[in-house]
Amino acid sequence: MSLFIGSALSIGETAIKQIPQRVTPCHFCAHGGLFWTRIVVTKPTVIKGSQIDARFHSFENGVAVPIRASTGTDRACLGTKSCIVGEYRRRLPAKFSGILNCWLGRTYFSAWTEKPESGIFLSIYADKFHFAATSSDSGARTGTVTTSRGSFRTPVFMPVGTRGTIKAALATQIASIGYEVILGNTYHLMLRPGAEVVESFGSLHGFTGWPGHMLTDSGGFQVMSLGAKFSESGATFRSVYDGSTHTVSPERAVELQEMIGADIQMVLDVCSMLPASRDQIKTAMDLTHRWALRARQAKSRSDQAQFGIVQGGIELDYRAESAKCVVDMDFEGYAIGGLAVGEGRAEMLRAIDATIEHLPQTRVRYLMGVGDPIGVLEAISRGVDMFDCVTPSRIARHGTAMTFAGKLHLKNLAYQRDQGPIEKGCPCEACLNYPRGLIRHLVTVGEPTGGSLLTLHNLTFMHRLIDAARVAIRDGSLAKLVSSIRDSWGS
Ligand SMILES: [Zn+2]
Repeated sequence: MSLFIGSALSIGETAIKQIPQRVTPCHFCAHGGLFWTRIVVTKPTVIKGSQIDARFHSFENGVAVPIRASTGTDRACLGTKSCIVGEYRRRLPAKFSGILNCWLGRTYFSAWTEKPESGIFLSIYADKFHFAATSSDSGARTGTVTTSRGSFRTPVFMPVGTRGTIKAALATQIASIGYEVILGNTYHLMLRPGAEVVESFGSLHGFTGWPGHMLTDSGGFQVMSLGAKFSESGATFRSVYDGSTHTVSPERAVELQEMIGADIQMVLDVCSMLPASRDQIKTAMDLTHRWALRARQAKSRSDQAQFGIVQGGIELDYRAESAKCVVDMDFEGYAIGGLAVGEGRAEMLRAIDATIEHLPQTRVRYLMGVGDPIGVLEAISRGVDMFDCVTPSRIARHGTAMTFAGKLHLKNLAYQRDQGPIEKGCPCEACLNYPRGLIRHLVTVGEPTGGSLLTLHNLTFMHRLIDAARVAIRDGSLAKLVSSIRDSWGS
């Protein structure tokens, strides 16, 4: 428990002392197992920047309310499935000295000072994700994922910030489109500028200025696609930057992601490019399971969530076996990995079905590396919540626009004198201000601004598509949306 306190608060160990005092049932929902404790901060202590957002949770008649200044009787409901999560955010001072009284539970850890007038509140999200499905249409669900930073809605598409930023777009532009969570590539960040450099800025958030949630992959997919060699101890690969050789173990992947400091980290896995034999798939899957267990044991930051990854190729029995095995390790969320790597869509969807059947309803589900509109909608229909893919921004830089009517290849001569926007009704910066003819000109002559404008458009399209899916799930009209996108996108 003391490790939990220290890491949750990010306060130097020498400055705090934890005194467990008593155990009491939850005041509001009668679930037991809360620990009353007192933390004495013995000297002014710097609380690290990424962890000073305070968060409060209380539950009255099923409604989340902020906990106010403590008199010693306010308390938070901790870690029960029946409760709704609320938030109340306040800035803590950079330095704090005093006494924090805490209720500790399986899920949340809240603390406040004994001097209500000081207005200092502290609550750190601990070791569970809350996922609340609000409605469903077939297998689809909408919900909210809560991390140490706040909440984001699902289904959700995460643009990929390969080297810390989305290529050809600014963090402020991505946020203004409405994105709440993006992905960073551990592989690239560990090589350039190095995880230690990112950590010196507090976190990837501090380094890049991205205000929302962030997930880092483990680097497993990149090293696999770059011809890594896998052994029991880890993956060995060459740097794309200077050819130097590196080995990443499951434990090192956790350590790197804890230094980079995103809100969600992924375990290191072994992905098989398809087609592959059953033997190859089983070998990769079994190693993925052993590594997942090691990664779970290596995780030390309680303010970060960790997702396990299900492998098994397109072998349905392996998918089921992998899902059960990874779920047994009790991760905060579950990813479906090893798909969109050479198989057909029908095979991919069967593998998703075989996996989801064994994933818990109450945890978030993330399909890695899928970002084509039909694939995303089909997966949403089956109950997938999160997606990431480089394709929308990559094809943008090559002159292709994604629209509700299908793809537009803007380098085509047909658009040379086209004065209309890329897509009527699109609220993006490109569509509001620039004609297709200009964007065609820019991408044809290789002007980077063309790729930037198309990136903004394509990411706006993906955001609108997911928004439409979320509304359709609530309306019970998701099948209609899937069918209309299938008609316009051609398969
Ligand atoms: Zn647009």
